[in-house]
Amino acid sequence: MSTDDFESEFQPATSSEPAADPVLEADNLSVSYGKVQALRGLNVTVPEGEIVSLIGPNGAGKTTFANTASGFLPYEGNVRYRDQEIATVGQTELVEQGMIHCTEERDLFGYMDVEDNLELGGYLRDDDIIEERKEFVYDLFPRLDERREQNARSMSGGEQQMLAIGRALMGDPDLLILDEPTLGLAPVILKDIAEALEPILDQGVTILLTEQNVTFALNHADRIYLLENGEAVREGTAEEMQGDDYIRESYLGG
Ligand code: ATP
Repeated sequence: MSTDDFESEFQPATSSEPAADPVLEADNLSVSYGKVQALRGLNVTVPEGEIVSLIGPNGAGKTTFANTASGFLPYEGNVRYRDQEIATVGQTELVEQGMIHCTEERDLFGYMDVEDNLELGGYLRDDDIIEERKEFVYDLFPRLDERREQNARSMSGGEQQMLAIGRALMGDPDLLILDEPTLGLAPVILKDIAEALEPILDQGVTILLTEQNVTFALNHADRIYLLENGEAVREGTAEEMQGDDYIRESYLGG
């Protein structure tokens, strides 16, 4: 083999190539609500062990992508979770396999306390891992530990968001979908949520994060897709996106 052959076969991976096998992959994905087309031929790859963030303004299609990935919406094109086409797998089956979606609405049981909300998040898991999962969540968010018997509806927005993430973690996720977890939260709570990401990844979880808070996404995700009107207008590593003039000028105030 000549030196040229060697070089062409063994090119180092560029920083924008995914580092590992995708957990979730969308090819040419389109989704419409009647006449409103929310996603237009989107290609997204979520490699194992990474945080991939979809960013973009209101109505860009971030939640539509999250909902399509977890089997809530019909679509054209392909979306595969661990090589299975989402449309062929039932929603319960996706949860059983570890795709756990923490929705933008949080969907807590307001009149139930923290402990019961958490236990419901583990309803598909064996009893023997429930206690261990609960301890992980209480270690991650001590504010929940202090409020085990408090009703969810009486908690602050930030505490409710922690509970929603905690409940999702009770489902022992393989892929955790966090839809706008920072929406409306104070900086001190953003810090708590940011600090939880690393221990979650350390458990072998892959994270799909949708965010309007571009700074949060750039600081904490590995890979970013900027959506506008259902299309990815920019994509790359967080480092690449931090240096992108369009993102800086349009989303970070220059
Ligand atoms: P936000 O950050 O405000 O949540 P988003 O990026 O998550 O926005 P989507 O909620 O996915 O955007 O909305 C994408 C487009 O699809 C918008 O034009 C929205 O009006 C439309 N849309 C979303 N849900 C529905 C629905 N249930 N029925 C009709 N149109 C919808």
